[in-house]
Amino acid sequence: LTADCTILEMDEETDLSQIRPAFGGNIMAHIKTPNNRPQMATVRYKIMNAPERMPGETGEIVNRHMPSGKLVSRVEVLDIVEKPKEESIENADVLVVAGRGVKKPEDLQMLQELADLLDGQLACTRPLVEAGVMDAKTQIGLSGRTVRPKLIITCGVSGAVQFTAGMNHSDQIFAINTDPEAPIFKTANYCLVGDLYEVVPELIQRIEARKGAAHV
Ligand SMILES: Cc1cc2nc3c(=O)[nH]c(=O)nc-3n(C[C@H](O)[C@H](O)[C@H](O)COP(=O)(O)OP(=O)(O)OC[C@H]3O[C@@H](n4cnc5c(N)ncnc54)[C@H](O)[C@@H]3O)c2cc1C
Repeated sequence: LTADCTILEMDEETDLSQIRPAFGGNIMAHIKTPNNRPQMATVRYKIMNAPERMPGETGEIVNRHMPSGKLVSRVEVLDIVEKPKEESIENADVLVVAGRGVKKPEDLQMLQELADLLDGQLACTRPLVEAGVMDAKTQIGLSGRTVRPKLIITCGVSGAVQFTAGMNHSDQIFAINTDPEAPIFKTANYCLVGDLYEVVPELIQRIEARKGAAHV
């Protein structure tokens, strides 16, 4: 069983090629288990589309008898402590992503404001985690999380392949970058060549104005 695969391929001899980043995303490991059947793998959350429900599918449920003695556990439950629910970027419909184009940690507040207005969450590229500015749980990419939100707005993100591998299946990708040659524009659906320090406040203002108008 290979856990957390990001790519699955079937070889000609019907061996499953289980592919996943290893050593912090430095290599893509191809794991094969040719001497064993069944070959089983789990895939990274959000990396693949969940299959559509097939209403016509049927199957037989076979109930097997289990001797009650086998169901006796030697584990004694002393206490149950509920884990507080954490927000995770994988489940967000809207993500605003901070890249190295964000100059100071204080400036993240502006992006958080945009995320809040859109009921979204703030995420980031790896350099911001390495700089200790953002939590590793908010990093998108090969050595971070894979996301598929309805809308992702990248701000000052160049679009390195290690980043885009974690977000290129998002429904709508809106990229803001001062450099018209930035690779992120090859992945984005909406490309905005401009300074995030001008564009983001303008976006916030327009969204607030629309929301205000909707409440009148
Ligand atoms: C093995 C390995 C694994 C990796 N895994 C990941 C990963 O999981 N996630 C990840 O993100 N990276 C990962 N990386 C790093 C990755 O290669 C890039 O270095 C990183 O994604 C770059 O982050 P960035 O786009 O924020 O910064 P940069 O590449 O420095 O880009 C900053 C961008 O901001 C733009 N900019 C600057 N100022 C402004 C402004 N005022 N307004 C608008 N735009 C502006 C610039 O034009 C530039 O394009 C990995 C690297 C390796 C080697």
